[in-house]
Amino acid sequence: MFKTDYHVHIDWNPEKDLVEKMEEYAREADKWGITGIGFVEHFWNRKFPGHGKWYIPADVKRMTVLRAALTKAKLPAGMHGLIGCETEFDKNGTIPMTEEDIRQMDYVIVPHSHINMIDVVTEQDFTYDPEGCARYMEESFMGVMKHPLARYITILAHPFAPVGLDDQQDQILSYISDESFRRCARAAKKQGIALEVNSLTWKDKTEEELQSSQYIRFYRIAWKEGCSFVFGSDAHGPEQYQYLPKAMQIARESGILRTEESMHNIP
Ligand SMILES: [Zn+2]
Ligand SMILES: [Zn+2]
Repeated sequence: MFKTDYHVHIDWNPEKDLVEKMEEYAREADKWGITGIGFVEHFWNRKFPGHGKWYIPADVKRMTVLRAALTKAKLPAGMHGLIGCETEFDKNGTIPMTEEDIRQMDYVIVPHSHINMIDVVTEQDFTYDPEGCARYMEESFMGVMKHPLARYITILAHPFAPVGLDDQQDQILSYISDESFRRCARAAKKQGIALEVNSLTWKDKTEEELQSSQYIRFYRIAWKEGCSFVFGSDAHGPEQYQYLPKAMQIARESGILRTEESMHNIP
């Protein structure tokens, strides 16, 4: 059911040759039936302060390097490759990219819930505050949708995934009402931003746990609202394709019948 994967982290294993990494990922993706692969970097333009310890500030030159590598990489027959980024939505509501950066990329992925990046994304540690975490994610979701750069964003990464608090996912999401999920889904639909079904979100969940996952409630609402969906492996290494069936299960349980082939802001 998933034909594309635009969330493949090429910054994994920095010692390794870029072309080799792309080919390795592409071979693995091909085994899972993926025909469109998008390589991303965690992108934070050096002009913006506050990247903390999680980002290596970059500039547009980095994208030229990636594009050159993609030109050299031999992808399996019938597969096409793209270059994009997963940038950030920080605690000040900043997306640390310029329009010039955006023009160099085939597409842009923005997350709204890297709550593990304390001081960069949030001031607060939500470990013992599931309700606070829920409120934070409602607000940051809408913050991305209302951002001046929103019209350039292709995909919202792992919606409502409290990164780093995976064991509390369902508890946290239970504080978010259907009405609030609907408001968020409508905003994404209005902006033409696709919602990701991100397999890494559920990497430690069993099939039984997934059956009762709170994410099903969110994706069902989003499907009803006419949102677009896209798969993302969020792979930091080809072996992370092993989690793909978990995303398929969530999509199936949510009633998502198709993911996007042609998306907003993507060639
Ligand atoms: Zn992410
Ligand atoms: Zn990612």
